[in-house]
Amino acid sequence: MPQSVSPNVGELLIFVGQNYNFSYVYLYFCGMEKFEVHILGCGSAKPTLRHHPSAQLVNLREKLYLIDCGEGTQVQFQRARQSFSRLNHIFLSHLHGDHIFGLIGLLSTLSLSGRTQPMHIYAHEELEGLMRPWLDFFCTGIAFEVLFHPLPKGGTSEKVFEDRSLEVWTVPLRHRVPCCGFLFKEKALLPHIRRDMIDFLEIPYYEINHIKQGAGWTTPDGDFYPHERLVTPAAPARTYAYCSDTAYLPENADLLRGVDVLYHEATFGEELSARAVETCHSTARQAALLARLAGVKRLVIGHYSSRYQDERCLLDEARREFPNTELAAEGRCFTV
Ligand SMILES: [Zn+2]
Ligand SMILES: [Zn+2]
Repeated sequence: MPQSVSPNVGELLIFVGQNYNFSYVYLYFCGMEKFEVHILGCGSAKPTLRHHPSAQLVNLREKLYLIDCGEGTQVQFQRARQSFSRLNHIFLSHLHGDHIFGLIGLLSTLSLSGRTQPMHIYAHEELEGLMRPWLDFFCTGIAFEVLFHPLPKGGTSEKVFEDRSLEVWTVPLRHRVPCCGFLFKEKALLPHIRRDMIDFLEIPYYEINHIKQGAGWTTPDGDFYPHERLVTPAAPARTYAYCSDTAYLPENADLLRGVDVLYHEATFGEELSARAVETCHSTARQAALLARLAGVKRLVIGHYSSRYQDERCLLDEARREFPNTELAAEGRCFTV
């Protein structure tokens, strides 16, 4: 495929050209760009035989982003059949053990595997002071840099990461220690090229990227075709929000307005709402109320208390307020 062309989701592009004595055909189909969330762990506090502590893997266009890193994350990561080499960024919501006890094990394994590319860790600032002695002691000879990026302390949402396809913003949460969720915002895609117009006007393929980025086209006869006649709108950019651990915070509804998938903790059912208040957690009903208030498209609940042998009671409770709710479970993968 020509270097200068970057097709969008669902586009089939065929180019015919000539190079010295060779005629060639470029054929490129671009399927739906991947945006998935793998649940590696969705239990709270202590690991059980039913659930691992919190960890999730976001796969956006084959780049991996880890959210939280409870004990055993590296094993769960392998069960999800993902490659460590595509992971360069780890986001940690707060410094409770059920969200970070897997970190030193993961970093140690990466070191033993000969990793050389840096690992970026976004966490509250105390983490670096806690982790450096462990890295020095247990990961001697580590051949990659571990770069800590302190998360903002303020109560407002801030952008903490950006690359070509993604922005990550914090979601202020209320917990017993400083805590924030993360809002993953895919960047807007370029519009789809209209193949019929390209063929009709005989526009050369090397102009396609310019047109996708906003240019029009002038024919050799001087007729001008504006950009809008040459493209159809791009698929809407997608969003994923992770909110764990937190008391019920309806004030986050504006920030979470219309997200495609919201993962929200539902540590308890309403029968333990007093315990939820005491421990700064949410009930399944509260997670669903926030989903409804924010008008999200889909809710996934998790971070279950180990006292539940069956989470269907939490699911039923949430669905009474927000029907499009699903239960997180280890091994499940949600498409955003
Ligand atoms: Zn937790
Ligand atoms: Zn916690």
